[in-house]
Amino acid sequence: MPDRTSETILILGGTREAADLARELVAKHPQARIITSLAGRTREPAPLAGEVRTGGFGGVEGLADYIRANGVTRLVDATHPFARRISANAVEAARLTGVALDIRTREPWAKQPGDDWIEVDTLEAARDALPPRARVLLALGSQHIGLFSSREDVHFVVRMIDPPETPLDLPDHALVLGRPGDTAAVESMLLIAHSITHIVCRNSGGPAAYAKIEAARQLGIPVILVGRSD
Ligand code: NAP
Repeated sequence: MPDRTSETILILGGTREAADLARELVAKHPQARIITSLAGRTREPAPLAGEVRTGGFGGVEGLADYIRANGVTRLVDATHPFARRISANAVEAARLTGVALDIRTREPWAKQPGDDWIEVDTLEAARDALPPRARVLLALGSQHIGLFSSREDVHFVVRMIDPPETPLDLPDHALVLGRPGDTAAVESMLLIAHSITHIVCRNSGGPAAYAKIEAARQLGIPVILVGRSD
C-alpha cells in the first residue's frame, strides 16, 4: 500500500488477521492513519496497533459517511468470513464513495488426510447430525447456542471469551471461559479433559481457530463442520 501522509486506511476488523494487518501497516506506514473498526461484540478486545473505533456505522450510508468524514483513502475488509452484512456494506460503501476496497477475508479450511469431517450446510443440520449421548465441544458464537437446546440427550461444552449475560439455554452443559488454544496440544487437553466425542464448529478458515481441527484429527474425533452457506 502506498505511504503518503494523507493516507487513511480503515480496516473492518474483529479478527486476528485484522489485528496482524493493523500492526503491519502501522509499522510500515508510520505517516498514515490506520483505523481498525470493531463491531463491539467483545467486551475487552485485545489491544490493537493504530486507532480503534467501535460500534456499527448505521448501515451502508453510515459507513459511507464515516469514510467521507474521515477522508478514508482505502477500505480493507478483514472481517470474519461469516460476517456477511458488514462485507456487503463495505462493497456498497466503497462504490458510493469511490474509495478502493481491499478484500482480505479468509479461505475455508480444506480437508486433510486423517480429518473425520461431517460437512453440513446449516447449524440445524449440525444439531441433527449429533448422535445420542454425544459429548460435544460447541465452538460457536453465543447467538447460535440456543438452537441446540432441544438436544437434551447431549452434553455440551461451550467455550466463550466473555461470560454470558444470561444463563446458556442448554439443558446439560459445561462452560469454559477463555480464548481458543493456539496449538493442537492445548486444544487436545480440553478435548480429553471433557471426554469430547464430537466438535461442532463453522468452517471459518484461517489459522486462529484451526488448532481444534488439528487436535480432533490427532485424537480421531469427528468434526461436524458447517459450511459458509449457513
Ligand atoms: P455482520 O452480521 O456482518 O454485521 C452486522 C452488523 O454489525 C453490521 O451491519 C454492522 O453494523 C456491524 N458490524 C459488523 N462488523 C463490524 C465492524 N468490524 N465494525 C463496525 N461495525 C461492524 O457481522 P457479525 O457476524 O455480527 O460479526 C461482527 C464482528 O465480529 C465482525 O467485525 C467480525 O469480523 C467479527 N467476528 C465475527 C465472527 C462470526 O462468526 N460472524 C467470528 C469472529 C469475529 P452497521 O450496519 O450498523 O454498520
